Amino acid sequence: MPELPEVEVIRRFLNRNIVQEKIDSLDILYDRSVEFEGDFNASVLCGQRICFVDRKGKYLHLGLDRNDLVIHLRMTGQLYFEPEREPKDHIRWVMNFQSGRKLYFRDVRKFGRLVVHPKGAPKFCKNAEIGFEPWEMPLALWFDELKTERAIKAVLLDQHILAGVGNIYADEALYQSGIHPERKASSLDQHEANNLLMAVRVVMEKGIRFGGTTFRDYLGGDGKKGSMQDHLSVYQKTGSKCRKCSGPISRIKVAGRSSHFCPRCQK
Ligand SMILES: [Zn+2]
Repeated sequence: MPELPEVEVIRRFLNRNIVQEKIDSLDILYDRSVEFEGDFNASVLCGQRICFVDRKGKYLHLGLDRNDLVIHLRMTGQLYFEPEREPKDHIRWVMNFQSGRKLYFRDVRKFGRLVVHPKGAPKFCKNAEIGFEPWEMPLALWFDELKTERAIKAVLLDQHILAGVGNIYADEALYQSGIHPERKASSLDQHEANNLLMAVRVVMEKGIRFGGTTFRDYLGGDGKKGSMQDHLSVYQKTGSKCRKCSGPISRIKVAGRSSHFCPRCQK
């Protein structure tokens, strides 16, 4: 599933390629892939300009003249232009621009969504506010959020605290900061808490630099795979040698998710 770095790579691609484009029409090939938060339909988009492409956690936010669009790729969503990528199966919608270009949304598992909101403050999460970007989380508030009996891995994955951290980057950040994924969050001292937040920022920045992580479906907007998977230390490395101590990487379940870690280096 795409995490913050993968979505940021796509945001940068879209920002370079679709800002100032005017929408001609939106062809919806799978009804449930597009939702409308208001009494309007796809025709409302006709003639509207893309003013900016922003991101909140794993959500893309496209600001138009009179509406806001929020896109969540979920498990397998891909965005790309024709004709740079094949195949053409599993396309859920096509955004046609007046310039003649077409932006395709391909999604094998069909969980991805494009939501059309009235102009204003688009909602990203249905139930609650989405958390801070890792770079914007104040250290004092972060330390406060850790005053809980939950496992530190569960706190890292909680989108209402930090936005955009998923399984890959959570495992990598815990490894970099030497913290066991099952540790009670409240057992981290201030120094460990700071180190962990810094590690989240560093692995995210590295992920963006390498164009994201591609194990299966993820593609940057230019249709290219990311290469961060070649630079991971623990994620999906069960049985491989730890880069620090040469011991074997283990896998356990924490908060219902597979967690990869070094039992010697992470306490
Ligand atoms: Zn180790």
